Amino acid sequence: MKVIRAKHAGVCYGVERALDMAQAAMMDDETTYTLGPLIHNPKVVEKLSAHGVQVANDVDDIDSGIVVIRSHGVEPSVLDCLNAKGLTVIDATCPHVAKAQRAAAELRDLGGTVLVIGRAEHPEVRGLCGHAGNAAVVVAGVEEIPAELSEPVGIVVQTTESKEKLGAVVEALRSRGIEPVVKNTVCFATRQRQDSAAMLAEEVDAIVVIGGKNSSNTTHLFEICKAHCPRSFFVESVDELDAAWFDGCETVGVTAGASTPEDQIDEVVDYLETL
Ligand code: SF4
Repeated sequence: MKVIRAKHAGVCYGVERALDMAQAAMMDDETTYTLGPLIHNPKVVEKLSAHGVQVANDVDDIDSGIVVIRSHGVEPSVLDCLNAKGLTVIDATCPHVAKAQRAAAELRDLGGTVLVIGRAEHPEVRGLCGHAGNAAVVVAGVEEIPAELSEPVGIVVQTTESKEKLGAVVEALRSRGIEPVVKNTVCFATRQRQDSAAMLAEEVDAIVVIGGKNSSNTTHLFEICKAHCPRSFFVESVDELDAAWFDGCETVGVTAGASTPEDQIDEVVDYLETL
């Protein structure tokens, strides 16, 4: 079976940067924590843990040492709390996320509603809401746009959302006579991965999407692939693959979310090439 990798797939700049910063921090004598799992990839988090990087799920769980803020960023209040505790803070917030946070704060200052397109429970979205303040309303899609909105309506987007979803929300507002102030904060790496996954899914018999099941950007990649190729499969690692999924296939595509390292992609490609 011929295996084709998406032109853009796997670890993005922001995740690589956060990993480098955490690895540099763990060389220090002090205990290193990450506030939440550093990336949405259980295997990588396990490896970091084996090297002494501990995951703290709450600021209250850390009393001393070094804290790495992951690429998703945090609410300003969390940063204030860490600094007030006198902890050494290493801020690995991805520069694209930091830009989205600044955009959220600018929209807040306009005085109307700030629609944050994304998953309410995602840490990046919680951070964006923290910057947008009380004006923030999280919408996962068009169906969640509230009936009552204060104008001007601003829109900021979770960096790993799709541009199609942003377009749909903008159109829905325009159909209500509202011209929103749009900050398109979908990041370039996400767009590249989504576009190359869509192109690849069109040309193969089946496609495998690799990444953490709790990873937003991987979930979106899977949705995009599914829309173009009915035989799309979402796995966290090579162990989940089943040869029967590929019966009758001549070509299979492989793509991966922004938290999936090269070695995990290689394992999947190597396995598929044996079929
Ligand atoms: S997907 Fe984009 S915003 Fe998110 S960490 Fe990677 S580069 Fe940064």
